[in-house]
Amino acid sequence: MCSHIQKIGFKMSKSNTEFDVIVIGAGPGGYVCAIRAAQLGLKTACVEKRDTLGGTCLNIGCIPSKALLHASEKYSEAENHFADFGIKTGKVSLDLKAMMKHKDDVVDSNTKGIEFLFKKNKITWLKGAGSIPAKGEVKVGKDTYKAKHIVIATGSDVASLPGIEIDEKKVVSSTGALELTKVPNKMVVIGGGVIGLEMAAVWSRLGASVTVIEYMNKILPPMDNEISKEAQKIFKKQGLDFKLSTKVTEVKNTKSGVKLTTEPANGGDAETLDADIVLVAVGRKAYTDKLGLDKVGVKTDDRGRIETDGHFKTNVDGIYAIGDVIAGPMLAHKAEEEGVVLAEMLAGQSGHIDYNLIPGVVYTWPEVAEVGKTEEQLKDEGVDYKVGKFPFMANGRARAMGAIDGFVKILADAKTDQVLGAHIIGPEAGTLIAEITAVMEFGGSSEDIARTCHAHPTLEEVVKEAALAVDGRPLHI
Ligand code: FAD
Ligand code: NAD
Repeated sequence: MCSHIQKIGFKMSKSNTEFDVIVIGAGPGGYVCAIRAAQLGLKTACVEKRDTLGGTCLNIGCIPSKALLHASEKYSEAENHFADFGIKTGKVSLDLKAMMKHKDDVVDSNTKGIEFLFKKNKITWLKGAGSIPAKGEVKVGKDTYKAKHIVIATGSDVASLPGIEIDEKKVVSSTGALELTKVPNKMVVIGGGVIGLEMAAVWSRLGASVTVIEYMNKILPPMDNEISKEAQKIFKKQGLDFKLSTKVTEVKNTKSGVKLTTEPANGGDAETLDADIVLVAVGRKAYTDKLGLDKVGVKTDDRGRIETDGHFKTNVDGIYAIGDVIAGPMLAHKAEEEGVVLAEMLAGQSGHIDYNLIPGVVYTWPEVAEVGKTEEQLKDEGVDYKVGKFPFMANGRARAMGAIDGFVKILADAKTDQVLGAHIIGPEAGTLIAEITAVMEFGGSSEDIARTCHAHPTLEEVVKEAALAVDGRPLHI
């Protein structure tokens, strides 16, 4: 029963407390699941404890980071590249407060957009933290609601390292790195993954000297080796400093900043380095705090992720889970796909996700994008494959843009020519990967891409040329 309604003398009607679906968490997994369920005629509520909808992605993740990446990229262009295009400016200067306001405005308009979509689709937003006291029940504050289906979409939270305390002032997570009020002189980023590199790009463009410390022997460890190598080469040219195969053993606050102690990953002499700001970007962990999973008996794995079957069902009837809180890549579009497919299943339809075809994009300049298998995976699996590669340097449009770094690499089955993977580093890689993903969805071949007419002059021609190169017949190299 809704306590705030009781207080003003109303008795809550059954229809306000009973739903077909209650989704807990309004990130891209949860809010999309709620929208699709409502579209399909299911009476839907979504519980969110933040003051705004949209989850990590819209509030402290994808959207604010992309707003700062875009703005800092413009700043860097104005400072370093306008002159190449014959544009003279006075001294370019930074108004960090205004740049942060741009980011905050973008977040605000996006989160309000989800509120609008909730109203449009008649989704009830239950404000507060939700828990599951029993099968078929969700508790929010003092109120208990009933649901035929409960969807856990509570996402993820920052992971840290033992002995390192994130204070969001000098030792920050991505959340703090999106809120700095001053450009640091020296920033150390622990973790050469996606967050580490995107945030390193933002703050180095704005003037910080940035060192990235990565435990593995390459940045972006899960990516295709050639792409990781090329990315490191390009980012180094842009001014980032890398310490690979290195682990941080201590982070200590000092009067003026932070002192880090590092050691080679495989043992050796310790080193120290100083920083004004340390960003800890070593991954994220599933978030299930206070949901009451133990009470209701929902199983989690050894990494705290909720265990689900191929249909997002947990081991408890009527309770499902999607997004960052379950296994798989922690990506907004993966969470969204799961939200849609689950809602459709709950409405009696069927659905399927090919997890091999979830593209990954790093929004640095140039962008890095991938889909399907890496060359290393194909080797490990003993698959006989062909490689087609084409550099942006040989593309007219890339030259016109002054964006000649990088290449497209397509991997295809040696016998059938079916595309098995694609890896791009270059301008608009995140957009270019979509064509290859669509071809792969249809089980297409590199010849299918090569025979498709691509407009000239476009960056997409690099994709076509890489597809031609699979068969050894690129035209412009
Ligand atoms: P979340 O977005 O984490 O949402 C979960 C929601 O549940 C939260 O709002 C939380 O408040 C709420 N919640 C939790 N527990 C409860 C409870 N008990 N009751 C009520 N509400 C609760 N991915 C991309 O694909 N592209 C990107 O460019 C990208 N950039 C990123 C940049 C950063 C800095 C970060 C941190 C992440 C980024 N990601 C990106 C990852 C992306 O944000 C996540 O994969 C995505 O948000 C996961 O969606 P989700 O719905 O599973 O969970
Ligand atoms: P990540 O897994 O991408 O990178 C973490 C990095 O830290 C890895 O390279 C790992 O080897 C390294 N690392 C781990 N322990 C270390 C240690 N002790 N010392 C040094 N390095 C160490 O995780 P992330 O960058 O924190 O991002 C978290 C999640 O958010 C990812 O799953 C990512 O998919 C998602 N995300 C996506 C985007 C995007 O799609 N553009 C952007 C940001 C975040």
